[in-house]
Amino acid sequence: MTTDYLGPRPEWMQRGLCAQPDAYNSDLWFPENTGPQGRIAKAVCRQCPVRDQCLDYAISNGEKYGIWAGTSERKRRDMIAKLRAAKRVCVECATPLTNGRRTYCSDNCYDTGHRRDNAAAAQRRRDRGAA
Ligand code: SF4
Ligand SMILES: [Zn+2]
Repeated sequence: MTTDYLGPRPEWMQRGLCAQPDAYNSDLWFPENTGPQGRIAKAVCRQCPVRDQCLDYAISNGEKYGIWAGTSERKRRDMIAKLRAAKRVCVECATPLTNGRRTYCSDNCYDTGHRRDNAAAAQRRRDRGAA
């Protein structure tokens, strides 16, 4: 995690091709409409080493604007709707799950869910012992 004038940001963002200083005009990722600018950004995203993390981040944070991981705003809306329809959501917080995630969207939700399950199991053991 790094912090700059935009606030805390995950480490992988620095490795994104769109974040390399002077390599690209960052306006490309926020095109006015689906014109050539957006196509260039999508082509760069296809080569990007952190594309999976980027898609995961954009979906789970509900990023509304711009191109993330080669997806447009509309494409992400469709993906989220499909994931919700297929009940591919975090069991803890209902964030749509992307990529390889199966049950929880984040380590935080995993920890929360497991703490609760462990507490419930401990309670069941106590109840049994008291019976
Ligand atoms: S996938 Fe695209 S938007 Fe995401 S970090 Fe890479 S270049 Fe940037
Ligand atoms: Zn979650």
